[in-house]
Amino acid sequence: MGKPTGFLEYPRRSVIDRDPAERVKDFKEFHTHLDERERREQGARCMDCGTPFCQSDYGCPVDNLIPEWNDLVYHGRWEEAFKRLMKTNNFPEYTGRVCPAPCESACVLAINEPAVTIKDNECTIIDRAYDTGLMKPRVPAIRTGKRVAIVGSGPAGLAAADQLNQAGHLVTVFERDDRIGGLLMYGIPNMKLDKGLVEKRNAIMMGEGIDFRPGVWVGRDLDPQELLHEYDAVLLTVGATKPRDLPARGRDLAGIHFAMQFLRANTRSLLDSNLEDGDYISARGKHVVVIGGGDTGTDCIGTSVRHGALSIVNFELLPRPATERTAEYPWPLFPRLLKNDYGHEEVQARFGADPRQFSILTKEFVGDESGSVRAVRTVRVKWHKPPGERPQMQEIPGSEEQWPADLVLLAMGFLGPEDDIAAQLGLDRDERSNIRAEFGAFSTSRPKVFAAGDARRGQSLVVWAIKEGREAAREMDRFLMGHTILA
Ligand SMILES: Cc1cc2nc3c(=O)[nH]c(=O)nc-3n(C[C@H](O)[C@H](O)[C@H](O)COP(=O)(O)OP(=O)(O)OC[C@H]3O[C@@H](n4cnc5c(N)ncnc54)[C@H](O)[C@@H]3O)c2cc1C
Ligand code: SF4
Repeated sequence: MGKPTGFLEYPRRSVIDRDPAERVKDFKEFHTHLDERERREQGARCMDCGTPFCQSDYGCPVDNLIPEWNDLVYHGRWEEAFKRLMKTNNFPEYTGRVCPAPCESACVLAINEPAVTIKDNECTIIDRAYDTGLMKPRVPAIRTGKRVAIVGSGPAGLAAADQLNQAGHLVTVFERDDRIGGLLMYGIPNMKLDKGLVEKRNAIMMGEGIDFRPGVWVGRDLDPQELLHEYDAVLLTVGATKPRDLPARGRDLAGIHFAMQFLRANTRSLLDSNLEDGDYISARGKHVVVIGGGDTGTDCIGTSVRHGALSIVNFELLPRPATERTAEYPWPLFPRLLKNDYGHEEVQARFGADPRQFSILTKEFVGDESGSVRAVRTVRVKWHKPPGERPQMQEIPGSEEQWPADLVLLAMGFLGPEDDIAAQLGLDRDERSNIRAEFGAFSTSRPKVFAAGDARRGQSLVVWAIKEGREAAREMDRFLMGHTILA
């Protein structure tokens, strides 16, 4: 513990993102850094707890060595902090930007003070490592001769690829999209996670010997059975990409899209042509209705405001969450709280009001004579929870409303992996249609086929995808070698 009185002396200081009114004029990343003195003070706030809940099962899923690197940050020992960080997390440059930081909700200091800025500390350590040249290819000294195929290049596939490559196996990653990264590339927008950073890290991994094959759709361009013949083991990290639909009247009208159609096309056009090819769904001059909250809904809001939408509203079926912990979510649980995320701040800066409407149910999409959506009809709902039962919803009579809408974005979550590969390989699925593979073993119902990430656990978080990719790699290494050198 660097400074025993640090938590008494220094208040929490989070990074101040770029000014919302300014940043909506471009798609550049909004994240900034504190200066070095301020960052070291934030490291000094860590109490080096006897039981560090930040890295317990309530906290960081990848078991980051948080108190250790907080102390190294305080002492300005950046190289050692970087080495500690990379021991447990393959991609701190991503989690340091996009993680909801369950470590901070579980931080002991957060019982009666604002938590240590664990996520920002992490981001500074890794960004400094890039800036100072510490982050460079580590080419494995020994090769085992074993060949591994990974299908899907999101954080789960990439974490597994990194681990298996470092263990000396020859790794090929197949990705149907034209760029590597999964939702890191085409889900999370550029302002939240700069794609230059994703490309930079991909290039490092290529320099380490990983063979990336973008533009290969396994199950269409390539028979998955072939992978079983050509490789010693196969890992499926194909994500949970089936979107939840909203089968309300008028769903077929033009102008209603799934969130990922909107977000993917935008990032692709941004990277291909700085949006000059026009090959994306534009919100410019439109009344936008985003249905569904969460990260996906926020990203649709942030993208629409940058396009120059005329108005933006966001519907959430559930009630407005509390702003502070309630008895339902005592410390150290990760609480469901009202979060003023970046997209909400930006709409407030642009239009002067929060875009979110809670406890609201979409009843119908109303079209014009050309078959395009022009409004959304809703009704307010009331929630109540009888003891021992699930919460129940009741429509409030007389609360019907109509909202102008030229563009509707459906961001209501995902229903598991697409069917092709699992069907072609005859894999068992679980009751939620995910690929069945036990956590900890990651082996599917078919020998030498493993599954991890959202495809196995359902829609989740980047940090969980990394955790699953790492652990699946460990089990694959054990399968290939009879023992494992991976943690
Ligand atoms: C819009 C959006 C924003 C999000 N924001 C956040 C956030 O801020 N923070 C956070 O922690 N989490 C966020 N998430 C969740 C997070 O991105 C996912 O949990 C995580 O990316 C899952 O990783 P994965 O590797 O399992 O799958 P994915 O990232 O989904 O990657 C799967 C990859 O497999 C490829 N693939 C699928 N089928 C095939 C095939 N047959 N052949 C070849 N390739 C195939 C897909 O093209 C895709 O690239 C967000 C999700 C979305 C949709
Ligand atoms: S719980 Fe908080 S204060 Fe305690 S070791 Fe972890 S980061 Fe430091």
